[in-house]
Amino acid sequence: MDCPDCGDEPTRVVDTGTSADGTAVRRRRECTACSFRFTTYERPEWDSLRVEKRDGRVEPFDREKLRAGVERAIEKRPVDADDVATLVDDVEATLLDDDGRVVTAERVGALVSDRLRSLDRIAYVRFVSVYRAFSDPAAFRRALDAVDERDEGGQSREQTEFEQ
Ligand SMILES: [Zn+2]
Repeated sequence: MDCPDCGDEPTRVVDTGTSADGTAVRRRRECTACSFRFTTYERPEWDSLRVEKRDGRVEPFDREKLRAGVERAIEKRPVDADDVATLVDDVEATLLDDDGRVVTAERVGALVSDRLRSLDRIAYVRFVSVYRAFSDPAAFRRALDAVDERDEGGQSREQTEFEQ
């Protein structure tokens, strides 16, 4: 398996276990070139995680696609590759803990944006603008307002009230 950080291979397995729900094999891997560590979950095809898109199509969950989306959001931002890997692992593990094996694209987006918000404000806004702006402009606006209130305190709350 290629290293998601430097693209090199091989990677070695440093720890093996099961996912929180016990249905997947969890492997902690380390790149032999750069020592980057990441986690993979392997499960039977019939039990794999799937994502329902807004247009109703259902696709296999693709952690590399998710990682690419997060990486676009953090471009040129002071966020560590380790933090991105942890975020992707955490989101995948949370989704795997859901009762069903089909999750909505909205849920994936919400989980990522929750975690990005605590990592980097600009990355969060970028991510949310891609994930939410098209489907739910009102939710996008609320998300931006929430960031403003958190980071700038009373000043922007006044602004929000003024606009109402
Ligand atoms: Zn590597």
